[in-house]
Amino acid sequence: MNAYLAHDGRDRFRQRLWVGVPGCDEAAWQHAVSTADTDFNYLPVFTNAETYEHYYDGFSNSLLWPLFHYFPSYAEFHKTDFAAYMDVNRQFARRLLAEVRPGDVIWIHDYHLLPLAAMLRRQSPDLSIELFLHIPFPVFEVFRLVPKPWQRELLLGMLGADVIGFHTDSYQRYFLQAAEQVLQTVPVDGELTWEGRAVSTGVFPVSIDFDMFHDAGLKNDVQELTTHYQSLKHNKKMLFSVDRLDYTKGVHHRIKGYKKFLLQHPEYCGQVVFVLVIVPSRNHIRTYAERKRMIDEYIGDINSSLGTIDWKPVIYQYQHLEFNELAALYRACDVALITPLRDGMNLVAKEFVASRNDGTGVLILSELAGAATELNGALLINPNDADEIASTIKLAIEMGSSEQQERLNAMQIQIKTHDVNRWAANMLQRLEEVTVRRITNA
Ligand code: UDP
Repeated sequence: MNAYLAHDGRDRFRQRLWVGVPGCDEAAWQHAVSTADTDFNYLPVFTNAETYEHYYDGFSNSLLWPLFHYFPSYAEFHKTDFAAYMDVNRQFARRLLAEVRPGDVIWIHDYHLLPLAAMLRRQSPDLSIELFLHIPFPVFEVFRLVPKPWQRELLLGMLGADVIGFHTDSYQRYFLQAAEQVLQTVPVDGELTWEGRAVSTGVFPVSIDFDMFHDAGLKNDVQELTTHYQSLKHNKKMLFSVDRLDYTKGVHHRIKGYKKFLLQHPEYCGQVVFVLVIVPSRNHIRTYAERKRMIDEYIGDINSSLGTIDWKPVIYQYQHLEFNELAALYRACDVALITPLRDGMNLVAKEFVASRNDGTGVLILSELAGAATELNGALLINPNDADEIASTIKLAIEMGSSEQQERLNAMQIQIKTHDVNRWAANMLQRLEEVTVRRITNA
């Protein structure tokens, strides 16, 4: 949960500041900052452990996260969580307001800070504020499950921004529909008028540093690791996936699809291997801990029922990867199998594509990830359809090299021309346009 504050001027920032809630005490924070290799300026917003838990594990990750990813049965509706969410946003606003000057640019990131823009706007109307939502915005029938007073606070909060960015046009459309239903706003070409101000919404799909991943293969240590991983797979085809532990990522659906593939095509047993990496995340939330147990069981089942003494269908790691390891695995595998049940974007898909500077490799991607709207060269699957996953795995590992190259090329051009720098520049440019209009019309 970050806000990015740029002092003075939209064309030349004099000072940049990252503001965030570190979720730790001041001593731990001081230690982390003193040992970090960074030239950023950080402004921490400390809150007490209990408030933080209700704010972060509670309202943010046990209500907004599951609901906005279409897991309403996982959503928990607690007044104390909502109170803490608003409280932390108010603390955040107070901390920022002590720093800002009229005309400063504030870029708010994500669902942890939806009410912030309006809190800032009320006290400092001349700020230029943009908000980017990194997760989906759900259809109204799902959004309306939020108690009405909270719906209003979330939407009113967002409308404090000059620009609100989404990954896809459907997320943008659902937001505009929710605002229309709850606040009776009337959108015209993606723009609303709220309290006499224009609020512009737009589609700005977040991206990656294409060159960093594309050029990783030029680094000696990445090359060595790639060769090492390639030697481990011998002549087998290697499938690869990496996700944070999260029920939205569809990991056990993926394993089911892979198992089906092996059962339907026993000739591939011993000829493929699936390297599956899970990064620990939010594991003190019950739904996450349950998911971990379930994944462990599925992997145990497939390895014990289909594996042999000299072949394991799944190689499983439950640990974070360093950049070099990640880049080497992207390069060493034959197929990336990315099957979220719902994902705002999914950067792993883009990173895999960017890393393949050898022109080979196949991406199997869930059609329910935001990235599917951009990556036309991927083999798209419905993550709930184990048969489709199974048949697509076969298609991927049998795909000829010229088709692989053609599909990759199309996707690489898309990501290279729409990289993270362009994403940021486009959002800031839109903010500048809206701000200039606001100042001119004042
Ligand atoms: N990542 C990483 N190390 C790992 C696994 C993932 O640094 O061991 C990074 C990965 O490079 C990507 C991000 O974590 O940039 C995951 O982003 P994505 O959009 O795919 O999913 P999210 O975790 O944000 O839901």
